[in-house]
Amino acid sequence: MPDRCVKCNAPADGRRLTRNLSWHPPAWYLVILAGLLVYVIAALVVRHTARIQIGMCEKHSNQRRKRIAVGWLLGLGSIALMIVAGSQAYIPEALTWLWPVALAMFVASLVIAVIVSRLAVPARIDKHYVWLKNIHADFLDSLPPLGMPAHPVNTHLPVPSLEGGAAR
Ligand SMILES: [Zn+2]
Repeated sequence: MPDRCVKCNAPADGRRLTRNLSWHPPAWYLVILAGLLVYVIAALVVRHTARIQIGMCEKHSNQRRKRIAVGWLLGLGSIALMIVAGSQAYIPEALTWLWPVALAMFVASLVIAVIVSRLAVPARIDKHYVWLKNIHADFLDSLPPLGMPAHPVNTHLPVPSLEGGAAR
């Protein structure tokens, strides 16, 4: 992967985030109908995994760190409020906002968790490639087209040697 931000294509200056990705063909989601546990076991068997390192610029890596911090604060804050609210046998009039606010904070923390984790979502993984979603278009345009060797050095090889994983 180039040393550039996957979000905006700005120079990443060596800032790397390691992501362990896993993916399975979407049809396997149907197995959920047979039971969640069956699905979880099947998914563990059929999934493809990949470890990639993606570049992030200073702005986006700071933004990500901030979002994670805010998400934790909201999540822990909502739990604290729920404990306070739950410990009262009778909630006085002045504190009736406790439950709604705690719930809102909890939902907000989940939303942030989803946003944060949507960085580099795999659209597909096989033995050689990782297809990623949510990547800046200019970043994708700068990558070699699929089916081509990732490194010019390898062009003389009959089979593209893609060890290390080309990602797009
Ligand atoms: Zn960026």
